[in-house]
Amino acid sequence: MTLTDRTRLVESISNPEKVWDIIVVGGGATGLGTALDAASRGYQTLLLEQADFAKGTSSRSTKLVHGGVRYLAQGNIGLVREALYERGLLLKNAPHLVKNLSFVIPNYRWWEGMFYTIGLGVYDLLAGKLSLGRTKHISKKQILADLPGINPKGLHGGVVYHDGQFDDSRLAVNLAQTCLEQGATVLNYFRVTGLIKNDYHKITGVKAIDNETGVIYQLKAKVIVNATGVFVDDLLQMDKPEDKPLVRPSQGVHVVIERSFMPADEALMIPKTSDGRVLFVVPWHEKLVVGTTDTPINSHSLEPVALEAEIDFILNTAAKYLTRAPTRKDVLSVFAGLRPLAAPKNDSSKTKEISRSHKLMVSPSGMITMIGGKWTTYRKMGEDAVDKAAEVGGLKSEVSKTKHLAIHGSIAGLDWDDRLYFYGSDRNAVLALTKENPDWTKKLHPNYNYLQAQVIWAVRNEMARTVEDILARRMRLLFLDARAAIDAAAVTASLMAKELNKDTTWQEEQVNAFAKLAQAYLLH
Ligand SMILES: Cc1cc2nc3c(=O)[nH]c(=O)nc-3n(C[C@H](O)[C@H](O)[C@H](O)COP(=O)(O)OP(=O)(O)OC[C@H]3O[C@@H](n4cnc5c(N)ncnc54)[C@H](O)[C@@H]3O)c2cc1C
Repeated sequence: MTLTDRTRLVESISNPEKVWDIIVVGGGATGLGTALDAASRGYQTLLLEQADFAKGTSSRSTKLVHGGVRYLAQGNIGLVREALYERGLLLKNAPHLVKNLSFVIPNYRWWEGMFYTIGLGVYDLLAGKLSLGRTKHISKKQILADLPGINPKGLHGGVVYHDGQFDDSRLAVNLAQTCLEQGATVLNYFRVTGLIKNDYHKITGVKAIDNETGVIYQLKAKVIVNATGVFVDDLLQMDKPEDKPLVRPSQGVHVVIERSFMPADEALMIPKTSDGRVLFVVPWHEKLVVGTTDTPINSHSLEPVALEAEIDFILNTAAKYLTRAPTRKDVLSVFAGLRPLAAPKNDSSKTKEISRSHKLMVSPSGMITMIGGKWTTYRKMGEDAVDKAAEVGGLKSEVSKTKHLAIHGSIAGLDWDDRLYFYGSDRNAVLALTKENPDWTKKLHPNYNYLQAQVIWAVRNEMARTVEDILARRMRLLFLDARAAIDAAAVTASLMAKELNKDTTWQEEQVNAFAKLAQAYLLH
């Protein structure tokens, strides 16, 4: 029986008399950061996620661990400094998932070289001892050598700076594992459907449903943390139906194209697009991720859909900077995510100007809600949430321990060229599965290096429950090449069925559900 055994975990929550110190609702960056902070302080912690870990926004980011060059331009020094500090900590605590990456800003006007070198010099200074490398100016000749594929017309030179890059949903899975190792109980496919209150209108627990069995639970806690991202208003309205929404979602879209459009190890950063935004072209798992957009949206969903205008904007902008213009037929996958931004007090439609810093709110009922922020600062958000939760819940005072807490998989001396590098310290155990069954050395898809053993590993050790969990978040095939992911679904379902003791009907349902979902990641 492993730590991640779901039956054992569900059993551990079935005692109706148990009072948790903290129940965290939501298993994205914010919730996992909060649960880890709480568990490592020794608090009895339960995290409930309605779908899979990082199913929401936390698997749909630009994959940057960054201070936010854009926020520096907006003069938000405090936010940038905090994020740069957290960037440095994450690189130390999860070195198997966070890479030091060079970003090149091409300069098409004579003054830009000096302007960005000075600006990014400040960025380096703000990082202090945790700087990832110094910003430098490079010549036109150098930029053409570093970034083959970049449009040379009118190019003067470039500025290179450093930031971090990561795999968002892999980090989420490793955080869930670290939570378990620290004594928390974390459950995916468990949805909070209601709040329990006492006679004084204080929240004392939640009602939750196990989405796999339909069994309903009443779970008691000293304090509840609402970490549901763009869904925070659903919980707030369970508390006070008349309240105005706190969150203003802003959609961001990315497209994924072949690396051949820019066969480089560096990323391209376009600091000012035609509508004043930033666009990144970032190498990620053998492909290029290009994005993003910033579109105010009035509704929220776990599967937001890219708008045609967003796709056109990304492709048209990339076309201006690359010698070979990517077109719709070159798009291997398109994905959309929703930023849970704190809504402004006055009714502005400009989401670029809505605060990106995180905000903590305590309801009169005692529920703590965390909104905004970003993946990079998930640890600090968790720390802040637990500080407040301890105060509200009357918990024994303990200081946060996450600053120097290694995340599951953390290992020094990684070989980034190894196809299984992102498993970190689990790598050899994943490979060892092929001794149990030599068939598991086979590939999941002929064009990709994923092994069947990785499916088994994800089921046994990473709480994967569906084909989508495996192909979207344990391995990233859906995000890298949606068509290939559809092709790999049948074999994935059959491997999972044997592990989970499921029948052929389950397999068929899984394959059909995945194929349907994956259609939204394809451009037709
Ligand atoms: C396009 C885009 C690009 C970004 N790029 C970056 C980047 O490069 N770097 C960076 O640092 N940040 C980035 N961010 C920001 C970052 O991704 C988010 O701030 C972060 O992922 C938000 O995490 P969250 O946990 O608050 O929300 P989510 O990840 O959405 O998690 C909330 C979870 O709550 C669950 N939930 C909801 N209701 C319930 C319920 N009733 N019961 C149980 N569970 C429930 C949901 O299923 C969901 O999984 C980006 C964001 C976007 C949109």
